Amino acid sequence: MSERTEIASLGEFGLIEHLTKNIELQNASSIVGVGDDGAVIDHFGKQTVISTDLLIENVHFDLIYTPLKHLGYKSVIVNLSDIYAMNATPSQITLSLGISNRFSVEALDEFYEGVYAACERYGVDLVGGDTTSSQKGFIISVTAIGEVSPDKYVKRSTAKKGDLLCVSGTLGAAYIGLLFLEREKKIYLESPAVQPDLEEESYVIGKLLKPEARKDIIEFFDQQNIMPTSMMDISDGLSSEILHICKDSGLGCVIYEEKIPIAEEMKNAAYKFKIDPTACALSGGEDYELLFTLSQNDYDKITLNEGISVIGYMTDEAAGTTIITKNGNKHPITAQGWNHLK
Ligand code: ADP
Ligand code: MG
Repeated sequence: MSERTEIASLGEFGLIEHLTKNIELQNASSIVGVGDDGAVIDHFGKQTVISTDLLIENVHFDLIYTPLKHLGYKSVIVNLSDIYAMNATPSQITLSLGISNRFSVEALDEFYEGVYAACERYGVDLVGGDTTSSQKGFIISVTAIGEVSPDKYVKRSTAKKGDLLCVSGTLGAAYIGLLFLEREKKIYLESPAVQPDLEEESYVIGKLLKPEARKDIIEFFDQQNIMPTSMMDISDGLSSEILHICKDSGLGCVIYEEKIPIAEEMKNAAYKFKIDPTACALSGGEDYELLFTLSQNDYDKITLNEGISVIGYMTDEAAGTTIITKNGNKHPITAQGWNHLK
C-alpha cells in the first residue's frame, strides 16, 4: 500500500511550504514569487495579459478517470492556451485550490507534479495562490499572466472581410476520448471487476487528458512576421468559436467541410461510436487549438507550416455563416457547443 500523509499533519502553512519549496523562478519578469502577501512582476514595458479559469470536480473533470498528475498539467495548459490566443507569451501563473480531507499530501504531490511539468515545458513561474479547505469536491483556479508588445496583441473582434480563416492542429479527438472514458466509467460502476481496455484508444484519450497549448504557433507567427487579424482558442468546439469571431468582428464566413483537419486515429474512433467525425470537430470541445484569421497576403507564409489548415474565408455579415459540405451542400453554421452532444 502506498503511503498516506494527512494534510492536517502539515497544517495549511506547512502544506504550502511543502508544495512550493522547490520552485526556482525562471523568468526575469518574476521579481517576487511565492512566500509574501503578493507577487511582483515587471514586464519591462510590455503589456500584461491576464486570464483565469475555475475548474470544479464533476463539472469540469472526473477523478474516476483523470489521473491527478494529468489534471494538474491540464489545469495549467487550458490557461496558457488563453494567453497564446491573445498572441502573448505566458510568464507566470497563480494556482488556488479548494481541497477536502479525502486528499492526502501524496495526492497533492501528484497534482503538483503535473503543474510543475507544465510550468517547465512552457517556461512559466508559479508565483502565488491560495489554499483552502473544501467540504466535498476538489476546486482549482488558475490565473495565467503573460506579456505582449503593445502593438502585438490579437483580439476576436478585428477580422476583416476576405481574410483567410485558419485552425492549428486537428480537431474533435478530445471529445471522442471523453465518450470512451464515460462509457468505461459506466461499465466500471455497473461491474467493477471488468478491466477496461483503453489501449486502442490511447490517441483520443491522450488528447482529452493531456492537451498541449500552441506555443509553437505563436512562435511561428513571430518568426514569419505574421500578425493574425483576429484569434481565439478552441475550447467549446469549432462552430461555436467561429461564430464568436464572426459576431465580434461583424462579419460572416464560408468554411469547407473537407478542409477541417481531422486525425485518422480520431476518425476510426468516431466510427466505433457511429458518430460523424466532422460533427465532433464542429461541436466537440477541449481541443485547445487556435482559430485565427489572416490577410490573404500571408497565404504563402502560412503554407510553410503543416500544422495550420486554411478552412475558409470571411465574408460580409449579410452573407451569413456557411459550411459547404463534402457533397457541395450549404448549411448555416450553428453553435451547438459541446453539451449538445452529450
Ligand atoms: P495570505 O494569508 O497572505 O493570503 P497564504 O498563507 O495564503 O497568504 O499564502 C502564503 C504564500 O503562499 C503566498 O505567496 C501565496 O501566494 C502562496 N500560496 C498559497 N497557496 C498556494 C498554492 N496552492 N500554490 C502556490 N502558492 C500558494
Ligand atoms: Mg491566502
